[in-house]
Amino acid sequence: MNVYLDNNATTMVAPEVFAAMQPFFGEFYGNPSSMHRFGGQVGRHVDRARQQVADLLGAEPDEIIFTAGGSEGDNLAIKGALEAMKSGRRHIITTRVEHPAVRVTCRWLRDHGFRLTEIPVDREGTLDMERLEEALTPDTALVSVMWANNETGVVFPIEHIARLAKARGIVVHTDAVQAAGKLPIDLKQVPVDLLTISGHKLHAPKGVGALYVRRGTRITPQIHGGHQEGGKRAGTENVPGIVGLGRAAELAAETMAEENDRVRALRDRLEQGLLQNCAGAQVNGRNRLPNTLNISFEFIEGESILLMLDEVGVAASSGSACSSGSLEPSHVLRAMGVPFTLAHGSVRFSLSRYNTEQEIDHVIEHMPGIVTRLREISPFVGGAAAWAGKSTCNV
Ligand SMILES: *Cc1c(COP(=O)(O)O)cnc(C)c1O
Repeated sequence: MNVYLDNNATTMVAPEVFAAMQPFFGEFYGNPSSMHRFGGQVGRHVDRARQQVADLLGAEPDEIIFTAGGSEGDNLAIKGALEAMKSGRRHIITTRVEHPAVRVTCRWLRDHGFRLTEIPVDREGTLDMERLEEALTPDTALVSVMWANNETGVVFPIEHIARLAKARGIVVHTDAVQAAGKLPIDLKQVPVDLLTISGHKLHAPKGVGALYVRRGTRITPQIHGGHQEGGKRAGTENVPGIVGLGRAAELAAETMAEENDRVRALRDRLEQGLLQNCAGAQVNGRNRLPNTLNISFEFIEGESILLMLDEVGVAASSGSACSSGSLEPSHVLRAMGVPFTLAHGSVRFSLSRYNTEQEIDHVIEHMPGIVTRLREISPFVGGAAAWAGKSTCNV
């Protein structure tokens, strides 16, 4: 059995999305900027995709810029807004748990003359709103806070944050790459100025995404050249990708409510199954996306768990990155203050509408044995001893 539970890393292209894209690798190969009929035909499909993406977000089509994905969208939003700003404000606020596309971009700007505040989170991943409010000053140019976290699934109160910042004349960006398609988004209610989405996190292909830019928000292009995308992003459009993103957005809007209930039930089944059957297990994060379970198993390494899960056909990811031979816990779990012995043994399971109950039960069946075996050979000082003689798992 092959069980894919790494949907926060990337998702399968939906069959409907693939079908919608196919003609644009064949018959419809025109350049949307061309005057002749080959171009015009294709241009109309790009317009339609722009409407579909706008509809998913409660936006207008002229507020959507197609990009090559989430990382480009985040860079364009943050650098583009700051560069276009005439106020002379030099302070950026973000959080300690952002995706690298925002975190590294903000730190790069700090190295180039901006002041940066990274707001902390507590043990449950909840954002410190008091600190955020205190950090808003007359010098603050931009607030960039993710809508939902890719590692833990924790959802931030974006509407509230946006209202606080907008009242002070601050531009607000949110990385909604994990939220789009999983949470209802209505930009008529939530006054953010800039919002990033990425195709491959919602069953469209990799290498396409969109940036929402509210009417009246000024951004400077980061890729200069032709007049595509209203002069905000040069380069001949990735037409098949854009058409796929449009169809994926439409599918998400149609099925979200129903599929979320099903996915949440499966995620909760997995969570309960693992907590009940594996001792020393703890969930990381509260108030989460319906599809995400980040769970730590004390005294063992996430990487080893992943290898053993892979042997039984299960794909997940871990909260530590194996870099230069040392296992460094993720910046997200570190920001949450997850203790060393737990952070190292963290695994992220992220579901999609394509997962089934049988798949979840397959994981619940195999996980206790994996945890027991790894604890027996635990390298952590005191780890093996602490668990020696105890039955760590019930199954
Ligand atoms: C995946 C991801 C990105 C990056 O998107 P790409 O399309 O892979 O560049 C940015 N932010 C979050 C929260 C993500 O999960």
